[in-house]
Amino acid sequence: MIRDLETHENDAQLESDICIIGAGAAGITLALQLAKSGQKVTLCEGGGLDQSDASQSCYIGEVRGDPYFGLDWARLRYLGGTTNHWSGWCRTFESIDFDRSYIAPEHKWPITKSDLDPFLEDAGQILEITPDFNDGPADASGIKPIGYRFSPPTRFGEKYFEQLKASQQIELVLNANLIATESAGGAISAARFKSYSGTDLTIRAKKYVLAMGGIENSRMLLWLQSQAGDGLLKTTLPIGNYWMEHPHFLLGMAFVETEVSNQWTYGISGEVQRNEKILNCGFRVDEISKEETEKLLADLQCVAPAYADRIAGMIDEQKVCGAQLRSAWEQEPVRSNSVELSTQEKDIFGIPRVVLNWKKSTLDKRTIRKSVEIFNQWLMDNDLGRIKPDTWVLSTDPYPTDDELAGFHHMGGTRMGSDHKTSVVDGNCKVHGTANMYVAGSSVFTTSGHNNPTLPIVQLALRLADHLVE
Ligand SMILES: Cc1cc2nc3c(=O)[nH]c(=O)nc-3n(C[C@H](O)[C@H](O)[C@H](O)COP(=O)(O)OP(=O)(O)OC[C@H]3O[C@@H](n4cnc5c(N)ncnc54)[C@H](O)[C@@H]3O)c2cc1C
Repeated sequence: MIRDLETHENDAQLESDICIIGAGAAGITLALQLAKSGQKVTLCEGGGLDQSDASQSCYIGEVRGDPYFGLDWARLRYLGGTTNHWSGWCRTFESIDFDRSYIAPEHKWPITKSDLDPFLEDAGQILEITPDFNDGPADASGIKPIGYRFSPPTRFGEKYFEQLKASQQIELVLNANLIATESAGGAISAARFKSYSGTDLTIRAKKYVLAMGGIENSRMLLWLQSQAGDGLLKTTLPIGNYWMEHPHFLLGMAFVETEVSNQWTYGISGEVQRNEKILNCGFRVDEISKEETEKLLADLQCVAPAYADRIAGMIDEQKVCGAQLRSAWEQEPVRSNSVELSTQEKDIFGIPRVVLNWKKSTLDKRTIRKSVEIFNQWLMDNDLGRIKPDTWVLSTDPYPTDDELAGFHHMGGTRMGSDHKTSVVDGNCKVHGTANMYVAGSSVFTTSGHNNPTLPIVQLALRLADHLVE
C-alpha cells in the first residue's frame, strides 16, 4: 500500500512491527524481505516518486578538506534513493576487508565474509547480476585478476514499485521526513515525520531502522542525539566519525601486452596487503585510442628510442597496446573524517545541515604508491609491460583536482564494532545501548575494501532482515 503524507490527514498515528526510514537500496531490500516473513512494515520515504527541489534541498551541505562533490547532487532524495543515478558496478568484499587490525585494532569488523556470503545469491538477484567474480589466484607478487559484475543498473524505485504497492505487509509512506523520535527505557517508542506542507505523522513500531544513506544516517543520529533528553544515544558513541570514500584517480600511462588490458581489472592479495601494511586497491587497465598511443610512443622516442621502436613493432602486430592505469582504492578509517551538524545552516525542517570533513591520509597515499610499485614490478617481472606513473603518485605532490576524485561511495559514520568508543552499531547493526534502533546501509561499514558498496549494502540488508525476524 502507498500513502502520500502530503495528502494524508494531519496528526495520524500508524503502528507496525518495523519502521524503516529511507527507501533506497537498503530500505527497499529490507522492507521486501521482512514482508516475506509476515512482518508489518512501514517504509517512510522523505521524497516522493520523483525528484523535487523541496526534498533535494535537505541534502545541501558543506564539505571541508579535500575537493569533493556537492552533497546535494552526490545523492538523490526520492523513492529509490541514489540508485536513481548509480552506475551499477558490483563487487563484494574480500576476506581481508573485514580485518584491518594490522592497521589499528578497531578496524576489525565483528563479522566476517562468511557472515555475508549466504546472502550473495539473493543480493545478486535483487541487483540483477550473477554474483560470480571469478577472481584468479595471485602470483608471488600478489597481483591477481579480479572481476566485477554490472547491474542494468537496477533503479530500486522503478523496479520494485509494483511489489511495494501490491504488498499487504508494507505501507510505503511518501514525503514522510523523519524529524524526531520519542524514547523511553533505552528504546524508541515513536518516530515523528513531517511532509513539506506540514502534515505530521507518528509511527509506533517495535523496531526502527535508519536507512537514509551513507551521510544522512549519521546526520540524523547526531540530530536525534542532540534532541533526546533521556540519553538514548550515548555521547561517547563516535557518530559521524570514520567516514570513508574510495579515491578514484588516473595513475599513469602504460604499454602493456594486449592480454593485460583484455583482463582489464586487477587486485592485490590480502597477504601482500597485510605484509606491506597497506589497504585494498583495484586497478583498471583501459586501452587508449590510436592517437593517444602515438603520442605516448612519441614521448618514449625522446627518452628510449630503441625501446620505442621495439614497442611500435609490437603495437603493429597487436601484441601490445597503449593503456591508462586507473584505480579506486580503500581509504583509511580516520576519526577526523566525519559527518557533523552545521552550527549555522538548517534545512526546511529546522534540522542542522550536514558538514562533511574529508581528507585523504598518509596511509591512503602510501597504499596507492606501494600498489602501483607492486603492479609495475609484476608487469616487468613477467615482461608484460611498463607503467609511467604520474608524478604525484610517487612524490609528495598534491592529488590532481581535475580527475574523478572519488566514487560517490559514502561509507562509515555509524561503523560496526563491539566497542562503544570506536563503533556505533554492533554486529547485528543495532545502535549500541539502544533496545530497538538499527542502521542499514554503507554507514555501518567498519572499513571499506576497494569494492563498490551497493552489493554489500544489499547483502547486509538481507542479513539484517533475518536478524529482525528472529
Ligand atoms: C553517480 C553515482 C554513481 C554510483 N555508482 C555506483 C556503482 O557503480 N556501484 C555501487 O555499488 N554504488 C554506486 N553508487 C553508490 C550507490 O548509489 C549507493 O551505494 C546506494 O544508493 C546506497 O543505498 P542506500 O539505500 O544506503 O542509500 P540511498 O540510495 O541514498 O537511499 C536513502 C533514502 O533515504 C531517504 N531519506 C533521506 N533522508 C530521509 C529522511 N530524513 N526521512 C525519510 N527518508 C529519508 C532518501 O530520500 C533515499 O530514498 C553511485 C552513486 C552515485 C551518486
